[in-house]
Amino acid sequence: MISYDDALQRIMDSVTPLPPIHVLLDDAPGHVLALPAKSRWDMPRFDNSAMDGFALAGLPEKTDVGLAIVGASYAGHPFPGKLYPGQAVHITTGAQLPPGADTVIPLEQAQQKGDCVYLIERAEVGQHVRYRGEEYCSRDVLLDVGARLRAGDVALLASAGIEYVTVFPRPRVAVISTGDELVELGQDPGPDKIINSNLHLLKTRLSECGCIPICLGIGADDPGTLDQLFDQALSADVIISTGGVSVGVKDHVQAALEKRDFRKVFWKVAIKPGKPVLFGMLESKPCFGLPGNPAATAATFELFVKPALKRLAGETDILPERRRAILTSEVMGGGERQTFLWCRLKWQERAYIVTLSQCQGSGQNRGLSTANALLSVPVGVEKLGAGEDVEVLLL
Ligand code: AMP
Ligand code: MG
Repeated sequence: MISYDDALQRIMDSVTPLPPIHVLLDDAPGHVLALPAKSRWDMPRFDNSAMDGFALAGLPEKTDVGLAIVGASYAGHPFPGKLYPGQAVHITTGAQLPPGADTVIPLEQAQQKGDCVYLIERAEVGQHVRYRGEEYCSRDVLLDVGARLRAGDVALLASAGIEYVTVFPRPRVAVISTGDELVELGQDPGPDKIINSNLHLLKTRLSECGCIPICLGIGADDPGTLDQLFDQALSADVIISTGGVSVGVKDHVQAALEKRDFRKVFWKVAIKPGKPVLFGMLESKPCFGLPGNPAATAATFELFVKPALKRLAGETDILPERRRAILTSEVMGGGERQTFLWCRLKWQERAYIVTLSQCQGSGQNRGLSTANALLSVPVGVEKLGAGEDVEVLLL
């Protein structure tokens, strides 16, 4: 059986970013840039005042010399003329500095008497001026390929006049749930069925990861139904199925895939939970067969699917984020398999501490419900003690 790191590497070798699209800046948050975003102009666009006050053309030699107020420059309404030594204009924050002006005296440091203004504190030439181009210049790369756009980024690009950006699309992800025992939430499970809870986990995580889930419903445990569902799934960029990938007589996912153009990349990884995870390329689309046990579905989503989704979406930093933390209680490892345990990571005084979820069974949902991380117990480690420094993967 291959290791987790090996399996992850094989996914990365198989998956490439989706073809870029051109979108309005308002539709871009959450997307990753596929082309650098370059500014259309200098910023600030013109020399302007950082304060409300008076703009001067040089400083008077002495503070008792009055400067003649010859007009005003308000934000959006520049002073129409040129300023000469010995003159001043009223100026507001963000207003253009008139030609000839080089210094701003804040209102608090000035005294107006009639048509003249006097300095009441020492000032320096050039003070409180925001110079053209001091933040960035025309054609500067403001954000480069690989940046995932957030609020501050789109504000920056808007200020630079960038109306459209070229980004990688959000991956559209088909989800197929398999199992004769499943019914959808809202249906009566009767005495012998269970709710398709994995669907809700996947829908939520896919949305949280910036993807578009396409839920194809429940497939019965027969190869014909599964074949039809995989056919429909090919309209998506990525395919995820849950259940039916182990060695049971009702596990038909792999057989259904193998009737099609499916290049298997791996089946079974030395991890716990999630050992029977299947990955391959179905007609050149990444296709994950996740084991159906809820904790296995959730763990294999974090460990394998999420990095692949990040790569499709154009991110360069795709590996699960790791932290070192102090373990609060003893845990047992899985021997020859890398074990992942649901846990809660919390900052306490000077370090992260990690507390294990109570339910770790692969058939259980409770362990994942309050978890924000997965504790990784390396292969060959039988036990980790309380107080030990351990590695966790953030969800
Ligand atoms: P399987 O991987 O199909 O062998 O399923 C393993 C276990 O996970 C069984 O107990 C299934 O009932 C359960 N299971 C499979 N799919 C789901 C699902 N979508 N939601 C909740 N439990 C599931
Ligand atoms: Mg099943």
